[in-house]
Amino acid sequence: MKKNRWVVKLGTGLLTRKTGEIDRKQVGLLVGQVARLMAEGIEIVLVSSGAIAAGMTAMGLEERPRATTGLQACATIGQIELMSEYQRHLRKHDLLGAQLLLTHANLDSRSCCRNAAQTLEHLLAQRRFLPIVNENDAIASEEIKVGDNDRLSAYAATLVGAGKLIILSSVDGLMTSTDGTGELVPLVKVVDDKIRALAAGTASQRNVGGMATKVLAAEIAATVGAETIIANGRAPDILPAIASGDFRGTVFRLRA
Ligand code: GLU
Repeated sequence: MKKNRWVVKLGTGLLTRKTGEIDRKQVGLLVGQVARLMAEGIEIVLVSSGAIAAGMTAMGLEERPRATTGLQACATIGQIELMSEYQRHLRKHDLLGAQLLLTHANLDSRSCCRNAAQTLEHLLAQRRFLPIVNENDAIASEEIKVGDNDRLSAYAATLVGAGKLIILSSVDGLMTSTDGTGELVPLVKVVDDKIRALAAGTASQRNVGGMATKVLAAEIAATVGAETIIANGRAPDILPAIASGDFRGTVFRLRA
């Protein structure tokens, strides 16, 4: 595990505006924060959602397609839109985005995992490339896909031996009440039935997994000794705040 290596997951709700299109300003702000941390020597792998949302805008779709093929087609178009947006902002900081699209089958294959890990190592070592991972939605069918980028980001954390998995969305963290209100839970040391119950039932239309998949991701990331942080990606300078240890969010410090 490398303390200074972070996997940062950005959710669709965080990257899009209420109207559904990619929030270009938000992408720019987050890329700026990533660039700052990279300059300070933190290695970052981004896991970004938003391909389907971006595809819907580009294709002029008002409603999310229900059929798998419709979603897959949407992702093929949206993934380019999304990456173009990242690249545009990254170049301002003399950085380049590097796209990795993974499937569940890839993650099940020892050789694919080894190759992905080696590619990521190679990119990270050069300090000016930002790996950006997403599920290969174009070929991931309902039965075999990872399905949510929370878990995908946890798998990415295990691939690279990350010290931190940071899941940024539009919520502050795990709350003491199941409807997402109440007090923030600042620290979780054990995922027991109480924590699972708090996390259940928070999924909404906008986000894919809700809190349940985030808690699951924290458990997966803990297997390689990574701590997981859930925080609000719209909070100003949240990533530098996490680096300095002064932030609002839920930290999962679970035993490996
Ligand atoms: N891979 C999906 C996308 O890029 C998102 C899945 C998720 O948000 O968990 O639209």
